[in-house]
Amino acid sequence: MKTRTCDVAIIGAGSAGLSARSAALAAGAKVLLIDHGPGGTTCARVGCMPSKLLLAAAHAAYAVQNAYRFGVGVAGGIEVDGAAVMARVRRERDRFVAAVLKTVESLGKDEMLRGSAHFDGPTQLTVDCEDERVRVKARSIIIATGSSSRFVKALENVSQRVLTNETIFELQTLPRSLAVLGGGPLGLELAQGMARLGVKVVLFDQADKLGGLRDPATLDAARKIFSEALDLRLKTEILSACEIDSGVQLNWRDVAGAEHAESFEYVLAAAGRMPNLAKLGLQNSGLVLDQHGVPRFDAKTLQCGDSAVFIAGDVDADRPVLHEASNEGRVAGANAARYPKVESSPRMTLLAITFSDPNIAAIGISYSQAKAANALIGEASYDDQGRAKVFLQNSGLIRIYGDENGLLLGAEMIGPAVEHSAHLLAWCVQQKLKASEVLRFPFYHPTFEEGLRSSLRDLCKKSGSLHRSEHDAIAFGPAG
Ligand SMILES: Cc1cc2nc3c(=O)[nH]c(=O)nc-3n(C[C@H](O)[C@H](O)[C@H](O)COP(=O)(O)OP(=O)(O)OC[C@H]3O[C@@H](n4cnc5c(N)ncnc54)[C@H](O)[C@@H]3O)c2cc1C
Repeated sequence: MKTRTCDVAIIGAGSAGLSARSAALAAGAKVLLIDHGPGGTTCARVGCMPSKLLLAAAHAAYAVQNAYRFGVGVAGGIEVDGAAVMARVRRERDRFVAAVLKTVESLGKDEMLRGSAHFDGPTQLTVDCEDERVRVKARSIIIATGSSSRFVKALENVSQRVLTNETIFELQTLPRSLAVLGGGPLGLELAQGMARLGVKVVLFDQADKLGGLRDPATLDAARKIFSEALDLRLKTEILSACEIDSGVQLNWRDVAGAEHAESFEYVLAAAGRMPNLAKLGLQNSGLVLDQHGVPRFDAKTLQCGDSAVFIAGDVDADRPVLHEASNEGRVAGANAARYPKVESSPRMTLLAITFSDPNIAAIGISYSQAKAANALIGEASYDDQGRAKVFLQNSGLIRIYGDENGLLLGAEMIGPAVEHSAHLLAWCVQQKLKASEVLRFPFYHPTFEEGLRSSLRDLCKKSGSLHRSEHDAIAFGPAG
């Protein structure tokens, strides 16, 4: 078996691995990247980008269908060309993938191994390439292997009819009907996208949660909004599934215990994601694992214990979003290169967005952390908000958490285009600003961001820090 030596070996050429590579190279390390393919990153190939391409088509269809509410008619109704929708998703997706592959394919044999890696020892890997096995000895190793759809046991007999994020974008046309299992951010986005494109969609979830929301008030708002837009079956259990001529029959139990059978052309498994760790031979790595089998690591250094192994991206099951994967990769790459001298890097304020319509967002601390800290909650509804009414998008809620002085700690939001308010607020939380300080920034009128302003004002009122001029603005200012 050939042996290769390097300073830093990185398993996984996804967003985390590629960013780790850049950081390790910048720190002067000799880096070996290892990936078994197909490459192009989850984000570009089967994640963020194709899902947003599908949603873009869906929201366009919805806008046309609802134009009549503004007095704008569409003669003859609308037609969704499923094959054209899916072709555009793939065409644009392939461009994003090609841009990533260009970098990876330009790497020489001394920089990249195309194969599957597993641990042989604490700093040693075996890589099974197509035509050879290679031993890799490294000073430090970064695990950046990403995650995969969680396997749903009840679907094991109908695998031909089960789609995941790996396969759904390969459909040549839109399905007639789709059962989506899982109401988290990925399931909700794809369920709404497909439904708006005319697919008969039913969304099942064993809990009564949606879009990753945890605050009971935003969750209530979400259930109300999405139950009008989607066929929701929350608090249900999928019992079994069997293939039938037209697709798959799902047998499920509702919250009252009654059993039902319903058929669909396909089922989308979106009930959570599992870190890709099973094939890594972690038993040979000497790493200490948590109860889920994930190596214990320090979130500020990405180091696993005091070992020479670092972990970054979705595989660490911490914050499974793209910008965190890239940032973790950067920190892990720099630390792996300078190991054993490891530096802490402060975490960014948490920011997670679901691109449903309306958007859902979580910023900073969670609702349970807010409760535990006796945080104050500023609230604003979109039901009567000026801009939202103009655009017939007046539903949603912002709940913003702050301490007794109005220091911003976090929030949950559901509402029109709150992806933008969520960004602004995340930056303010990270800057450790108080609600009263943010209220001195300009808020243009009429914008959706005025909903954020209303919630900040409410938080100020509750913390007793509302400035006199702000009282006047509430009394006399334009409806935000
Ligand atoms: C449907 C969907 C929609 C999403 N939408 C968004 C969004 O809108 N915004 C957002 O911020 N995030 C979104 N995400 C999450 C985002 O895509 C991920 O956080 C991000 O892609 C994770 O990057 P990564 O580097 O950890 O993993 P990946 O990009 O998956 O990289 C892991 C790499 O490791 C390789 N690998 C695995 N095991 C081995 C092995 N043993 N040997 C060699 N190579 C191996 C794989 O081939 C792969 O290339 C979405 C995810 C999904 C699934």
